[in-house]
Amino acid sequence: MDENSKSVMIIGGGIAGIQASLDLAERGLIVELIEKNACIGGRMAQLDKTFPTNDCAICILAPKLAECFRHPNINLHTLSEVKSLSGQAGNFKAKLLKKARYVKEDECINCGQCIEKCPMRVDDEFDMNLRKRRAIYIDYVQGVPSIVTIDRENCLFFTKQACRICEKVCEREAIDFEQQDEEIELNIGSIIVATGYDIFNPKSIESLGYSRYPNVITALEFERLICASGPLGGHLMRPSDKKEPKKLAFINCVGSRDIKNNPYCSSCCCMYTTKEAMIAYEHDNEIETSIFYIDLRAAGKGFREYIQRGNDAYAISYIKGKVAKILEDDQRNPLIIYEDINTSQVKQLNFDLVILATTMVPKKDAVELAKLLGIELNEYNFYKGNYFHPQKSSKEGIFLCGACRDPMDIPNSVIDASGAAAKAAEIVMRD
Ligand SMILES: Cc1cc2nc3c(=O)[nH]c(=O)nc-3n(C[C@H](O)[C@H](O)[C@H](O)COP(=O)(O)OP(=O)(O)OC[C@H]3O[C@@H](n4cnc5c(N)ncnc54)[C@H](O)[C@@H]3O)c2cc1C
Ligand code: SF4
Ligand code: SF4
Repeated sequence: MDENSKSVMIIGGGIAGIQASLDLAERGLIVELIEKNACIGGRMAQLDKTFPTNDCAICILAPKLAECFRHPNINLHTLSEVKSLSGQAGNFKAKLLKKARYVKEDECINCGQCIEKCPMRVDDEFDMNLRKRRAIYIDYVQGVPSIVTIDRENCLFFTKQACRICEKVCEREAIDFEQQDEEIELNIGSIIVATGYDIFNPKSIESLGYSRYPNVITALEFERLICASGPLGGHLMRPSDKKEPKKLAFINCVGSRDIKNNPYCSSCCCMYTTKEAMIAYEHDNEIETSIFYIDLRAAGKGFREYIQRGNDAYAISYIKGKVAKILEDDQRNPLIIYEDINTSQVKQLNFDLVILATTMVPKKDAVELAKLLGIELNEYNFYKGNYFHPQKSSKEGIFLCGACRDPMDIPNSVIDASGAAAKAAEIVMRD
């Protein structure tokens, strides 16, 4: 085994990939952390607070991001994806494609001058397209690495051979339009896949009115709307008329536990809808919330008490009801028609804002990546773990962790990551 194959490649820089990287780096192993976005952090960076402690998500995540960036044993490859893999456990060879950033990583100090002057505005994916960003941007304020990126698809220099304003305003001469995409070869002993999840698009359930009714939004959009660093600066207003909503409804299991869409349980919606309702109440204690559920799956430690607290102290009513459809009145107030599961009666209730707890779904490119790595998927296209060793994939030397192998919350993703890291370390340390 040569020296390089003592390293572990981790694909995906969300909380699971970050935790696995830190565990391995602390053991003295070299980690090659591959993230396709410009910054690491994954979905956790988009959250306002996290259940069950209601801690500020970025406050817990930021020290881990910084540690990952600074750790001498972690080589961070952002804007990168694995394009091929050969070899076997103990001695894999991977080829990465690293996209050009068009900004010199060792010169940019994220002063923001270029962002301020860039004339091109495009939808901001990090903020769920609820506001605009510039063509030169950083994914989010606390993003790591703390360096801006030029979005080639939208930059006027690449689309129209015009502008170059960012180049003129950057006093550090950090802009480099000549940068090219790079191919990087890595020799690694084992691999951890931590590519996370996508969000189910509720547009396909027409009866819920998402995208037709402005006051029907998703839970991840709500996270951004209520977050102090989000598009509304944390001052919750409903999209149609910027009024402060007083009556909220959350609908659990949207796109999950539903044979027409995804039969599996998304595992954290019961908890995060309670969390989001609690945060809304903390912002404005005139807010009353109804949470429509089929079952409350509050299986973790302290979870049942958390839901009880929502009920007792945060004006949350839990309604065991199956939502049939959402209509809208002439003030654009959503009207929920549902079946009360306890009485079997069809009822209706009016709200100011409805939030859909859309399920976690496999990443769009999961099939492609599984083929490239030679690992199996389960029946829903999450990566398939071994029954007795869930972090083991179907191929020796490749491990799985976090929401790419099953929908799971942050504490479980972290536990999973440490398990995968221990298994990945066994392979590279066995000689
Ligand atoms: C609305 C909402 C609220 C939530 N609230 C909570 C909460 O309060 N508490 C809680 O515990 N959990 C919460 N969760 C769940 C939480 O988001 C997940 O548990 C957590 O993000 C899983 O982390 P992960 O690292 O597995 O995946 P992700 O966070 O999805 O990270 C995956 C990373 O991999 C990268 N990636 C993907 N594909 C590739 C590729 N091919 N190559 C390179 N990189 C790739 C992605 O860009 C991303 O950075 C919530 C989820 C939702 C939808
Ligand atoms: S590219 Fe230059 S102007 Fe832009 S943030 Fe970096 S250092 Fe500042
Ligand atoms: S060259 Fe591109 S990134 Fe730079 S300021 Fe113009 S549009 Fe923005």
